[in-house]
Amino acid sequence: MKTYDIVIVGGGPAGLAAAVAAKEAGNDSILILERDHELGGILNQCIHNGFGLHTFKEELTGPEYAYRFIKQVLDLGIEYKLNTMVMDIAADKTVTAMNREDGMFQIPAKAVILAMGCRERPRGALNIPGYRPAGIFSAGTAQRLVNIEGYMPGREVVILGSGDIGLIMARRMTLEGAKVKVVAELMPYSGGLKRNIVQCLDDYGIPLKLSHTVVDIEGKEHVTAVTIAEVGPDRKPIPGTEERYTCDTLLLSCGLIPENELSRSAGVKMSPVTSGPIVNESLETNIPGVFACGNVLHVHDLVDYVSEEAKRAGHNAVKYINSGCKEGASGPSIEIVATEGARYTVPSTIDLNRMDDLLTVRFRVGDVYKNSFVSVYFDDERVFHNQKRIMAPGEMEQIILRKSQLEEHKDLKKITVKIEKE
Ligand SMILES: Cc1cc2nc3c(=O)[nH]c(=O)nc-3n(C[C@H](O)[C@H](O)[C@H](O)COP(=O)(O)OP(=O)(O)OC[C@H]3O[C@@H](n4cnc5c(N)ncnc54)[C@H](O)[C@@H]3O)c2cc1C
Repeated sequence: MKTYDIVIVGGGPAGLAAAVAAKEAGNDSILILERDHELGGILNQCIHNGFGLHTFKEELTGPEYAYRFIKQVLDLGIEYKLNTMVMDIAADKTVTAMNREDGMFQIPAKAVILAMGCRERPRGALNIPGYRPAGIFSAGTAQRLVNIEGYMPGREVVILGSGDIGLIMARRMTLEGAKVKVVAELMPYSGGLKRNIVQCLDDYGIPLKLSHTVVDIEGKEHVTAVTIAEVGPDRKPIPGTEERYTCDTLLLSCGLIPENELSRSAGVKMSPVTSGPIVNESLETNIPGVFACGNVLHVHDLVDYVSEEAKRAGHNAVKYINSGCKEGASGPSIEIVATEGARYTVPSTIDLNRMDDLLTVRFRVGDVYKNSFVSVYFDDERVFHNQKRIMAPGEMEQIILRKSQLEEHKDLKKITVKIEKE
């Protein structure tokens, strides 16, 4: 089996953009390993438009957006293997994978880029009472059935969870002739983008009930009705608020989880908040030469940000190889701490010597904040204070740090990101 400088696990938007950036940075020894039968990742089933506004200044469908990157991979002659499942990544960066042609094989790599995406939170993790009848799907499974397989999961639908996939599927099922009766959301705010609430629910008259959850599912062989109830601040159902909806389908859209079994078994340190790897300014994990990008790192709201981030991972993997695979930090390490409303940041540390002139730090807030400020402190000094009309957990926020600004603050140890009322 050949060896490669860079092995990329996953051929979705993140893996593709990382590969293109690595090739453009001058590396010719790149291999993408993808378990599916085609490149493009989950975007292949997202046939609605709205992708690429930032990257291409155009409104594309998911497959169109993915194809823009697939074409670059093909044009640049980057190697890839489809139907190939990565089974293990060793700490020395030997990748073990399997497919029908090669059987089980190992590739020693100088750098590995984790780009495995995310998966949906399953029903088992949700604690909903009732039998396990047919007619309950994750929203992503329903999306695949409708958009790729050509099957309609049902005709009368209740959706639990207002994540973006659930919102998109409310519209998709309606366009396919189903009646979507309600979207129930446990939290007092939606987990999805505002634009999706307007375009996918409001435009079709589909009610969104915040602070509601499913308390009963009826039907033994197949779903026949779903009961939802309002929840209090403790997230427990309030007796007497139950509403019953007859339906044949319940879609669950209750969050995405980064696909990190491989990362964990490789010894990558994980963030308990994002469930993705903890990375430095180069998007490098605690294992030198192992980088992460896209939804495996933290769940993104827009794929444009996935592509932009993944390019940095590809570029930095080449820098790592070109520097002779030097391990560890080369300069003073600055910690980035998220607190008081900011839930996490990516990255979590900065090595000043390796930092580019500009660094985008992305984060999410833990609640809805109106007319509040994103504040950044360098140690105890506030250096950035920007008012935002609204911030919500469903939308990613970002700040841009300038290397020269960090260098001016001698012995800077800690950067704090927080949300302030004034
Ligand atoms: C069901 C679902 C629907 C979504 N719908 C939308 C939407 O409508 N609009 C939107 O903006 N965003 C949507 N998203 C978010 C979207 O996933 C991201 O914007 C983007 O696709 C993330 O890119 P990625 O490359 O990180 O992940 P993915 O696109 O998920 O790609 C990861 C790739 O890694 C491969 N892989 C994983 N593990 C292995 C392994 N062990 N070996 C080999 N290959 C592996 C997977 O097969 C996949 O192709 C959706 C996400 C999900 C899960």
